[in-house]
Amino acid sequence: MQFTSLQQDNEIYNLLQAETSRQREGIELIPSENYTSGAVMEAMGSILTNKYSEGYPGKRYYGGQVNIDAIENIAIERAKKLFGAEHVNVQPYSGSPANTAVYFALLNYGDTIMGLKLDHGGHITHGLPISFSGKSYKVIPYTCKPDGWLDMDEVERLAREHKPKLIVAGFTAYPRAIDWPRFRAIADSVNAIAFADISHTAGLIAGKQLENPTPYFDVVMTTTHKTMRGPRGAIIMCKEKYAKTIDRAVFPGLQGGPHDSIIAGKAVCFAEALLPDFQDYAKQIILNAKALADALKNHGFKLVTDGTDTHLILIDLTTKNITGKEAQTALDAVGITANKNTIPHEPRSPMDPSGLRLGTPAATTRGMKEADMQKIAGWINDALANKNDASKLQTIKGEVKNFCLQFPLPGVK
Ligand SMILES: *Cc1c(COP(=O)(O)O)cnc(C)c1O
Repeated sequence: MQFTSLQQDNEIYNLLQAETSRQREGIELIPSENYTSGAVMEAMGSILTNKYSEGYPGKRYYGGQVNIDAIENIAIERAKKLFGAEHVNVQPYSGSPANTAVYFALLNYGDTIMGLKLDHGGHITHGLPISFSGKSYKVIPYTCKPDGWLDMDEVERLAREHKPKLIVAGFTAYPRAIDWPRFRAIADSVNAIAFADISHTAGLIAGKQLENPTPYFDVVMTTTHKTMRGPRGAIIMCKEKYAKTIDRAVFPGLQGGPHDSIIAGKAVCFAEALLPDFQDYAKQIILNAKALADALKNHGFKLVTDGTDTHLILIDLTTKNITGKEAQTALDAVGITANKNTIPHEPRSPMDPSGLRLGTPAATTRGMKEADMQKIAGWINDALANKNDASKLQTIKGEVKNFCLQFPLPGVK
């Protein structure tokens, strides 16, 4: 028997209802999360999931592709327009397989790559020793300076010394704007491929608030579910000369059938990002992050690099007598979701680090503004100061819930 509605699966339905309440009644500050639109969800939950379409538009292995080809072509055209890309592949299932496809396309096993060290703000797929990237390639990690700023002189020195075949300029816990031209110049000086992973900031770039590396980088990858506010997935953009190699690496190199419902969701999110009000959204994300950063500093918090240019804030808790894990737990207890994170030159361990990573994309989508960020900073300060006082945490949770109920949850009826 096929269910006609989710309600017929009680167990999953009830958990979904509970998760809806959690998302509605709490403040979402994980910088890689967002609330996607009802339109994107409609595409993701559509009958497109029934289709198999291995291959690319006009070159598929199965029949029945007339609508699928049109959808994928629209997604590609919109992404090209949004980022000024020469070539776009919209099939990657997510950011990690997309990065794997880029390496698979452009490198041989054992080749040298450079990427930001994980505990300094890089991503696992940028060469962490236990990941596929770290096991398959010779990785020269670069780092941040003790003040938290990226050490571009080190990038230049390491590139000269090790002559990497590819340099990854990608960041998952770094709060500052990137000097893309300098990365490009360093890559050029050693004949390396310049690869930007803009998964975190793509929405801020598409919304014209941060500089876009796409016009002059060889390859650019982004996820579509973070600041882009689309479905969970990724795209790879590249110069025409890499187009064939990248496409072949995605399919049949790494993936089978593309997720057509997700590709339709990507097309919808690109259409939303092409509207003028997406620029207002991107601008407000940064205004909110700066307001939250200032308010936290007023409460005595130390921030890595002392502030932010983006959607992201990294708190250094070493001066506050609380660990990242304890802070995350105290915030969970009051309905504020954030994540513990390493800080550059981490004195503790990755599973119990000294940092707390916050971001404003989701809160901004719900309509929160600068004044709301001050309230949120106050609750964060109170929750951390009262981490062992269950009744005080309960009181704060009530205040957070009442506050959140003023802001509708996008995509939910
Ligand atoms: C999130 C992220 C990824 C991976 O994306 P997944 O979809 O989680 O696999 C890759 N690179 C960077 C910089 C990221 O922030």
